[in-house]
Amino acid sequence: MTEPGAGSDTSAIRARAVLDEKTNEWVINGEKIFVTAGDKSLTEYEKLGKGFIVVWASIDPSAGRAGMRAFVVEAGTPGVKVTKLEHKLGIRASDTASVSLVDARVPFENLLGSPTVEKTTTGFKGAMATFDATRPLVAASGLGVARAALEFLKAKLRENGVQIRYGMPRQKLTAIERDVIDMEIMLKSAWLMVLKAVWMADNKKPNALESSMSKVKAGDVTTKITQKAVEILGPLGYSREFLLEKWFRDAKITDIYEGTGQINRLVVARQILGYSGSELR
Ligand SMILES: Cc1cc2nc3c(=O)[nH]c(=O)nc-3n(C[C@H](O)[C@H](O)[C@H](O)COP(=O)(O)OP(=O)(O)OC[C@H]3O[C@@H](n4cnc5c(N)ncnc54)[C@H](O)[C@@H]3O)c2cc1C
Repeated sequence: MTEPGAGSDTSAIRARAVLDEKTNEWVINGEKIFVTAGDKSLTEYEKLGKGFIVVWASIDPSAGRAGMRAFVVEAGTPGVKVTKLEHKLGIRASDTASVSLVDARVPFENLLGSPTVEKTTTGFKGAMATFDATRPLVAASGLGVARAALEFLKAKLRENGVQIRYGMPRQKLTAIERDVIDMEIMLKSAWLMVLKAVWMADNKKPNALESSMSKVKAGDVTTKITQKAVEILGPLGYSREFLLEKWFRDAKITDIYEGTGQINRLVVARQILGYSGSELR
């Protein structure tokens, strides 16, 4: 989805797809940035003959949001080029690419959704429905990082003879015991929110609220837990000898992609207060 002029505001997407009726192909033009695994999908998998990315473009700019559609663009499509690779703080095991599409032709059936545009917001609703499904998954991947950091912290504390005394009155706990228990509470509560959001999706219940809530919570929790684990272990957490420093760097993206923390808070507020996107922005 993301373009130089369209990040948080996905409705500002400028990429365009025009149907060539003679060949029954969509001709796509546009520039996409921050495409997760874009290089792997387009360059590396091209050699295996099976990579693709999904590109959002408008089939009718006069229809605004209603004209937006998703297209499967396969590796090896002429006119599709990886133009830049990001150097990033974290998630460096996955590439983040800029991709330009110049007269890129894809078969008619690579359109995901309906080729006809009604003057409603259905196209854009499709984009938002994608987020309802993917936000809890991003939240879950962040919480996996948080869990790894917490388990590593507890193992290192055990090695150093520190036992967490569960069930003690709070005022009798050491500062580290209290920190670890607080981290476990954060992780468990965020995980329960993810489970609720995906359970609702599996059971075909509208889950925009729960999906965004789980993403907000996971973004906070993942950054807090990894940061606290580094803080408690000090040099052990900071050293590249262990993965904890990597998890600390990987954590922050949970709060950025698939809608930033601020944007997901807006979605939650709109749902709870009953405001539309234009009323609360
Ligand atoms: C490593 C990485 C991988 C990514 N992968 C993908 C991908 O595969 N596909 C894809 O489409 N995108 C991807 N993105 C893009 C990501 O979703 C966007 O960066 C993100 O949505 C923010 O958009 P933006 O960069 O335009 O920032 P902006 O929208 O300019 O936001 C900048 C800041 O302003 C805040 N802000 C913006 N609007 C509001 C508002 N109304 N109220 C309050 N605060 C606001 C934001 O929360 C943010 O803090 C990726 C990004 C990164 C860093």
